[in-house]
Amino acid sequence: MRHFTRSIVWSGFVLASTAPFSSAAPFYADPPDETHPWAIHDDNRPQPARVEPGTFSSQEKPGQPPSDAIVLFDGTAASLKNWASDKAPDQPTKWVVVDGSFQCVPGSGYTRTRQEWGDCQLHVEWSAPAKVEGSSQGRGNSGIFPMGKVEVQVLDNYNNPTYADGFAGSVYGVNPPMANPLQAPGAWQVYDIVFRRPVFKDGTMLDSGSLTVFVNGVLVQDHTPLEGGGGHMRRSSNKAFPDKGPLQLQDHGNPVRYRNIWYRPLPARAIEGGDVSHMSPEATRAKRESLAASLRADAAKQQGTMKMLKLMESLVYAPDAATLAGTTQMSAAFFASVKDLSTEKLEAQKDEIRKVWSALRYCSTKKILAAALPEEAALADLIEKAGWNEKKK
Ligand code: MG
Repeated sequence: MRHFTRSIVWSGFVLASTAPFSSAAPFYADPPDETHPWAIHDDNRPQPARVEPGTFSSQEKPGQPPSDAIVLFDGTAASLKNWASDKAPDQPTKWVVVDGSFQCVPGSGYTRTRQEWGDCQLHVEWSAPAKVEGSSQGRGNSGIFPMGKVEVQVLDNYNNPTYADGFAGSVYGVNPPMANPLQAPGAWQVYDIVFRRPVFKDGTMLDSGSLTVFVNGVLVQDHTPLEGGGGHMRRSSNKAFPDKGPLQLQDHGNPVRYRNIWYRPLPARAIEGGDVSHMSPEATRAKRESLAASLRADAAKQQGTMKMLKLMESLVYAPDAATLAGTTQMSAAFFASVKDLSTEKLEAQKDEIRKVWSALRYCSTKKILAAALPEEAALADLIEKAGWNEKKK
């Protein structure tokens, strides 16, 4: 970032004494296009939100969730307020807190969260009874149902085979896990899940929805399509989900325990109009117009070269005849203001002149302007004569 620390006043151009010229935005790398509202390496693109990371769990102690996580069970009885009976959502959960864990009471029915949400990163830890009883689907069976719609299987599969699409870490009835990284029963198993709900528009499926699952840090589902959510014995087919739903935990007749349950809502995908990655042409156009409008509003508060550069910057995002006319006029006035300066005065404006020339050159080479403005060549000539061209060694 280059800072001008002097005040310059001449022929209508006033440069604020401490205003920085941005070094990268946006006259730097490939400009916005039909599906990318920002330039490459664009300083106008919002900074990522700060999140304080959590800590990893040990067998003895659950880890700390990240700072923006919504905690559903933290080991205390107070956490029970987040949970309800699934059969009667206005009733408290019948599951109980035992030694800092949230334990299924067999026969009490599924439990569900009082909160409802959609796409999320979900962290859940569970432990099957240390005393091994039953086999196949009858041993340490429970389940995690994002939105109550699709089961990520919880099952004690440590030395306990069962049908593959019903294994721990399966999308139940849809896809087996890619591996079985379970620890022995009684140990805490850690699930990290990324859930994306299906997206439909006007009856057409834009995204089937997906589950990505890590079991004890091992990837077992990689963006697995939901196929409508799957289920027991019957194949399901793609269908829309509501916008939000509760998280359910399954009562399958085994006293499975849970701890350290939290989630982080995820931002909308591009197909839903989210500001991420590769966007639809409509959303890109709207974003580019809004970025341009914001830069023009900024320009209105600036004067001189800063104003001209802000207006030129706005043209990188969206064309506008009045802005182009204003920029063209200011560019001519800028050149007129510097062309006859003494060597000494010229030297004092070296950085600024080079910045304006570089912005003009960017706009012509990247086709922001239909044709190069005459000042581009004129400033190039001035820079050449002043001997400011950096020679490559
Ligand atoms: Mg289950």
